Amino acid sequence: MPTVVTHALAGATLVALASRKPVSTPDMLPWLALCGAAAMLPDLDVVTFKLGIPYASPWGHRGFSHSLAAAAVCAGLLAWLCRPLWLRVGLSAASAASLLFLSVASHAALDMICDASFGPALFMPWSDHRYLSGWKPIEGAPIGLKRWFGPKGERVVQTEFVYVWLPCMALWAGRWLSLRRAGEARA
Ligand SMILES: [Zn+2]
Repeated sequence: MPTVVTHALAGATLVALASRKPVSTPDMLPWLALCGAAAMLPDLDVVTFKLGIPYASPWGHRGFSHSLAAAAVCAGLLAWLCRPLWLRVGLSAASAASLLFLSVASHAALDMICDASFGPALFMPWSDHRYLSGWKPIEGAPIGLKRWFGPKGERVVQTEFVYVWLPCMALWAGRWLSLRRAGEARA
């Protein structure tokens, strides 16, 4: 799996791109922070390792928790619980829930291009098939702190930087430029 910080960045970037308001608007930051946090949620399932549920199980790591159905439930709950955050940025309930869904679902999309044994069970509970892309450039992040200090940890940081952080930074820069141009055109 990519690290949770990388998942948060990807989720928040997608939501920011879908918004017309500049990120510098004070109310946008808490909303984007919520969307970033939402993108991290599926990996709370690492607790299943402690519970003795095997990785290969549909209820284990990257199983149901990484499905589109779980993303929809998560998005609905978060939209309901955090209503003031999306109201302040002028979103409707449907738009807020859709953007939260996009953010949570981006987690599974990134996991699919990550070099790991099992991909996300996208269509649980209807199918327990695990989906992994044929192109998996991102090194799987180790679980446990020890293995971070070595070549494996370095590869994780390098591949996440190249395949997620750089594209996200380019998208943020593009968005900033387009908002600036739109502002200049109105002036
Ligand atoms: Zn994951």
